[in-house]
Amino acid sequence: MIFPYCQHRHSSPDRQAPALKIRSLRVSYSSEDKFALKDFDISIPAGSATALVGPNGAGKSTLFKAVCGLLPVRNGSIEVFGRALGACHHRVVYLPQRSAIDWFFPISVLELVLMGRYVYLGWFKRPVKADVDLARQSLKEMNALDLAGRQISKLSGGQQQRVLIARALAQDADLLLLDEPLNAVDASTRETVANVLHKVKSQGKTVIVATHYYDQEEGRYDQAVYLKDGKKVDPEQGEDDSGHKDCDCR
Ligand code: ADP
Ligand code: MG
Repeated sequence: MIFPYCQHRHSSPDRQAPALKIRSLRVSYSSEDKFALKDFDISIPAGSATALVGPNGAGKSTLFKAVCGLLPVRNGSIEVFGRALGACHHRVVYLPQRSAIDWFFPISVLELVLMGRYVYLGWFKRPVKADVDLARQSLKEMNALDLAGRQISKLSGGQQQRVLIARALAQDADLLLLDEPLNAVDASTRETVANVLHKVKSQGKTVIVATHYYDQEEGRYDQAVYLKDGKKVDPEQGEDDSGHKDCDCR
């Protein structure tokens, strides 16, 4: 039997291929013909930083979830580093929106960050010292090492975002999908996130960030992809609809 989160199904990424290649993608949450993503195409070069811009309900989170295999693909294809979806799953990390997490779950910050290592551990294996060291290093990079022993229910919004990003860093993936990491965080957390994104990119990793703040962050990205009503739109059309007026997160 092959378990999805052990390494038996793992194929090495093709380093020459785009980090993400999507063709004619359709994704739906229901069996009806109501698509959250419609005929979506994209090619994201490896080593680039991309902003995913669009109003609430545009399909940004849906796209990330589809790339992680969390939603069924109704039509089209998704390739990650030239491999079929799932073939190199632990090379991809998805950082969900903070609101998608149950912050009352009774675990410590360090335990949460260690979850980033589980994709390597397989079933029934416990993290070893090297995993703990990497988790602590990730917390340090996010200026959050002092929070390691704290229950996650006791974190402020900015602290929650820092530890979520630390969890994503701990996975040491090649493709990072960050869902609105800058919403409702303080200025110092913004600065830390910006520095870490810069560092991750300089390591040759690929980053896609869903954001409502592209106008303030443009210089950090190599390209922007605009989404509206589940479709890619051209920048002029997208910019009109991607402003803060639609953001309910601040
Ligand atoms: P964004 O992240 O850009 O705000 P989403 O990907 O969350 O947008 O939503 C895209 C579309 O999918 C919206 O029409 C939304 O209502 C719908 N949708 C999102 N999550 C669900 C869900 N769990 N069940 C049904 N429909 C959903
Ligand atoms: Mg979203």
